[in-house]
Amino acid sequence: MKKIIIANWKMNPDTSARAVALARECEQEIASAKGLDVVLAPPYPFLREVASVLTVSSLGAQDVFWEESGAYTGEVSVRQLKDAGVEYVIIGHSERRIVSGETDDMVRKKIQAVLEGSMTAILCVGERERSGGEIPAFVGAQVRSALGGIKKTLLKNLIIAYEPVWAISTTSGANGSCTPDMMFRARLAIEKVVADIYDQQIAKTVRIIYGGSVSPENIATIFSAGHMDGALVGSAGLNAEKFGMIVRNASGV
Ligand code: PEP
Repeated sequence: MKKIIIANWKMNPDTSARAVALARECEQEIASAKGLDVVLAPPYPFLREVASVLTVSSLGAQDVFWEESGAYTGEVSVRQLKDAGVEYVIIGHSERRIVSGETDDMVRKKIQAVLEGSMTAILCVGERERSGGEIPAFVGAQVRSALGGIKKTLLKNLIIAYEPVWAISTTSGANGSCTPDMMFRARLAIEKVVADIYDQQIAKTVRIIYGGSVSPENIATIFSAGHMDGALVGSAGLNAEKFGMIVRNASGV
């Protein structure tokens, strides 16, 4: 299975000129990396311009709306994203769930719209508090809810990102880092839920990735001991040099 590294730029940078410059720098940094997919996910207003400078990486969006068109002020559809060159869509990021009140049902509708639109959906799941024992149940419930009613044939375009909220750099503070053992347990829980809903074979085709303070130093361990198929990168993705190191270190694993 090809590994994947996704940079979620969140609400950064502040101008399209800076976004294009960052995309160019990232492209230069990752030019020599081989055998893995790389995705850059800038804010909506910069999608088209960033797309125009990408050669190695693919374009991602940070959200989407499930309806095709109509009176939905401020929302953006799957088709509109596709038209801007987007191939990957991050859905259900904890910041959207917490800050914007996104519910499990909204996440499910978005996943369905993206997969039916033949784009790749990156479903984010993860517990808010650090409490080892409850990870599998909480994460499993989030996955089960997000996949309700989704046809088996659509799962080939699904990536599930395990992102313990407490391990994300901007919210973690004193909580420390997620251990490879915790990542692996979350992975097994996610796989089990997908296998329960569909089957074992489908569960093996879904890429399960990790997000939360990913760095050049920990990426190899995330892959080896954490058994992850990729990484969703926040802060480090805004620093082309660091992001390049993550991708290069990842491509050697
Ligand atoms: C994130 O917010 O999805 C994330 C992984 O951020 P960071 O890498 O900064 O922890």
